[in-house]
Amino acid sequence: MVRVRFAPSPTGHLHVGALRTALFNWLFARHHGGTFVLRIEDTDVARSSEEMSRSILEALRWVGLDWDEGPIYQSQRFEVYRQAARELVGKGLAYYCFCSPEEIEKRRQESQARGEHWKYDRRCLKLTEKERQGRQEQGQPAAIRFLVPEGLTEFEDLVHGPISVENKNLEDFVLLRGDGFPTYHLSVVVDDIDTGITHVIRGDDHISNTPKQILLYRAFGRPVPQFGHLPLILGPDRKKLSKRHGDTSVLNFRDKGYLPLAFFNFMAQLSWSPGPEEKIYTIEEMVREFSLDRISKGSPVFDLNKLEWLNSRLINEMPISELLVHLRPWLERAGFWSEELLAARKGWLEKVINLTRSRSRTLVDLSAMVIPFLSDSFSYDPEAVRKHLLNGELDRWLQLLAGDFQQLENFSAQEIERIIRGRAEKEGIKAATLIHALRVLVLGRSVSPGLFEVLELVGRDKTLARMARLEEIRKVAKIKEG
Ligand code: GLU
Repeated sequence: MVRVRFAPSPTGHLHVGALRTALFNWLFARHHGGTFVLRIEDTDVARSSEEMSRSILEALRWVGLDWDEGPIYQSQRFEVYRQAARELVGKGLAYYCFCSPEEIEKRRQESQARGEHWKYDRRCLKLTEKERQGRQEQGQPAAIRFLVPEGLTEFEDLVHGPISVENKNLEDFVLLRGDGFPTYHLSVVVDDIDTGITHVIRGDDHISNTPKQILLYRAFGRPVPQFGHLPLILGPDRKKLSKRHGDTSVLNFRDKGYLPLAFFNFMAQLSWSPGPEEKIYTIEEMVREFSLDRISKGSPVFDLNKLEWLNSRLINEMPISELLVHLRPWLERAGFWSEELLAARKGWLEKVINLTRSRSRTLVDLSAMVIPFLSDSFSYDPEAVRKHLLNGELDRWLQLLAGDFQQLENFSAQEIERIIRGRAEKEGIKAATLIHALRVLVLGRSVSPGLFEVLELVGRDKTLARMARLEEIRKVAKIKEG
């Protein structure tokens, strides 16, 4: 039975690199009908915080990743790790070390001065039982170090293939520090053993940890899980993705108006492709198709254009009623949501969304586009005002158009178009002049979906009222300029 885990350290928000690890573990578990365990690695008490743990869970939930067991907090298991370290000392596979960090640093520098490669010199391994007891009785703090055996440590990485390390290149690493806190190697292996993890899937940055951890499994006499390391994600400049490339925290993408399924697709497709096409796959399709041996070894590039493309594609393909569920919090936050809207005008609202979504790459775009349909208080893009509303003749043309509109029996897109084109022809001007001006007057911006459909949905009364704002809008624009 497959059992995998995601084990973030809550020292910051969940970032995209960690999320991809979570996502592949989750897909692997779901594909095999296995178990996905969540573990919070908060042994570094000074750098971890509950707030970050909460933020990580929130980000996982937003993307749609649920867990079957946990969260297990390592900070609640310190005693378990201490006992495990002592167990290895008891078996002669680990030993107490009294060397202080200062002493070790001094010896390290001396060995470097001799041109040697430093690794812990096993000074404390040579202590007699009596010497060790004496030091402990004096209350000298003691770390516990793992006694690295001789030989070669090999494993078959699920992504990279065979990897091997000569044990002589590994130092006797610390399991338990002098202050009684476990190191990462100890806590991770103890927990993976206790939760019966069968596959460890994590970032490439952990490859060098794996041989040490394999030695620990053997020391504990437990079966070694399989390991797979995911290639590092690069920024568009092909350097390791980092803060320099912008905010890479997962929740930032929620706040920028990306849909969770688009983000899920984007992240999954960074190192793997569920099918031949570049498109939005459903979660079920991805679960069905997922396989670790199709993960590419090369480092993927984090390309925001692709995310935008997937997002706008999903915005346009999704059933309107579902899109409305995602849009609602945006309208609520902006103060433009009312129960009346859903109760009495749902059909109309869906038409508005259907019209505006073709121009929207994110929910931010979409809500900005929808707001002028819901309320008279929206802002006017000053550049659009300058470009399309300053013509001195416009006042007269708009008055005539207002008259035309009032007489229309049916304020439909088709009729509106006929009227506007007819009026332009009579005045000997381009229809586009009127279309651009109306767009800015009614929506505050110079780009939108087809204006005639827009006006039909805005309705005659609001259209006329907004046309009548021309003077006021010009004044505000002038004040701002002045
Ligand atoms: N807590 C480690 C990290 O955030 C992960 C440990 C592991 O997957 O083995 O990088």
